[in-house]
Amino acid sequence: VKNDSRGGYAFYAQAMGSEFSQHMDLEMDLRRALSKEEFAVYYQPQFDTTNRRIVGIEALLRWQHPERGMLYPDSFIPLAEEIDLISRITLWVLDATTAQMRQWMDAGIAPPRLAVNLSALDLKHTTIVDETIQTLQRHGVPGNRLELEITETLIAQDITRATHHLTALSHHGINIAIDDFGTGYSSLNYLHRLPIHTLKIDRSFVRDIAPERNERSVIDAIIVMAHGFNLKVIAEGVETEAQRDWLEQRNCHTMQGYLFSRPLPVQDIEELLRASQAD
Ligand code: C2E
Ligand code: CA
Ligand code: CA
Ligand code: CA
Repeated sequence: VKNDSRGGYAFYAQAMGSEFSQHMDLEMDLRRALSKEEFAVYYQPQFDTTNRRIVGIEALLRWQHPERGMLYPDSFIPLAEEIDLISRITLWVLDATTAQMRQWMDAGIAPPRLAVNLSALDLKHTTIVDETIQTLQRHGVPGNRLELEITETLIAQDITRATHHLTALSHHGINIAIDDFGTGYSSLNYLHRLPIHTLKIDRSFVRDIAPERNERSVIDAIIVMAHGFNLKVIAEGVETEAQRDWLEQRNCHTMQGYLFSRPLPVQDIEELLRASQAD
């Protein structure tokens, strides 16, 4: 019994230790990733299904880890937030994507809008507004070409500060989208108080679409509300034709998802952009 429990403890300590040191490794790797240029941006198009044109492109971060291969944001963004590295990463993404946007504008293949995700922590920093404006100016990209995607949690946490920052950003023409709409702490009362341009219907609602049933759903409510507040609405995570058709019937015509395209590396998205300009 004694042995067992010691063995059990040793095993436990070892497991904890390795988890702990893995976390430490990842933390050190993450601190170096920016300077080592291990981050890359993938781009996923948003389509207007009435004319099949690209109306926007969302930037999605990838980390090409030297040993672990490609890592997705859900596996390192929370850590980046914890160790206070997120705002530097956000600025890197903003810089890389607006530089890219400028190149596309010069080549005559730019999408109308570029969407960039902000972390909940970004709006806590007082410098985010100035840094965003400066980045746009540095690359000569007008504010109305940028859409910032934020979540409701962020707004709910500090509505006064959020209002202040978002208003300043929108004075520069920058569009604000509410990401994962309907999943967080929704408060109808911020919708008309804040300068919001777009609601993104969360993937979980799209996944639950059951075309054979005709009952009203959360999505119906979101679409009606968006139109009532004069907001654009984008459905994300559209994977099937049935989902697309159902959304179209409900008057939602802007969509993003694997049915249309996965997030693509820059060369591949450029091919799509050229084709989109060509028709
Ligand atoms: P999100 O903003 O809700 O992005 C949508 C996620 O759904 C992306 O995952 C995308 O690749 C995936 N997706 C797109 N279409 C489909 C589909 O049809 N089916 C399915 N099953 N999935 C689809 P990804 O790229 O792994 O990003 C995950 C999350 O990480 C994002 O969720 C966003 O919150 C965050 N993120 C991504 N890039 C950045 C960034 O640059 N900065 C910050 N702060 N967060 C980021
Ligand atoms: Ca997003
Ligand atoms: Ca989303
Ligand atoms: Ca999400």
